[in-house]
Amino acid sequence: MNDKQKEELRNKIKTEIKSLTKQVKEMEETVDPVKPDAAIGRLSRLDTMLNQGINKSSIAQSRQRILNLEDALNRLEKDSFFGECEECGEDIPLARLLTLPESRYCVYCAEHLEE
Ligand SMILES: [Zn+2]
Repeated sequence: MNDKQKEELRNKIKTEIKSLTKQVKEMEETVDPVKPDAAIGRLSRLDTMLNQGINKSSIAQSRQRILNLEDALNRLEKDSFFGECEECGEDIPLARLLTLPESRYCVYCAEHLEE
């Protein structure tokens, strides 16, 4: 992977982390239980409770994704093997890395390994 590709990937990961962090923050505000009840009626409170279940797992998922991306960013900076498949050693195509920067395997190995 050359420097230009690295730079492209670095920017992509940073942008992704930023937007996910923003999403998590917004979701956390939605599930915030200290909101005054008076502002919302009984029905919408039920709605909120249902949404909270969904949002809590979304938050957990997004948080995990942020950690994975930060790990990828860290490896991109420090690991000279970054971008190579950990299974077969082939270069992971840049297009795949841009879509899924945290992927450690090429498409072939990812399909044949249980992650
Ligand atoms: Zn592979």
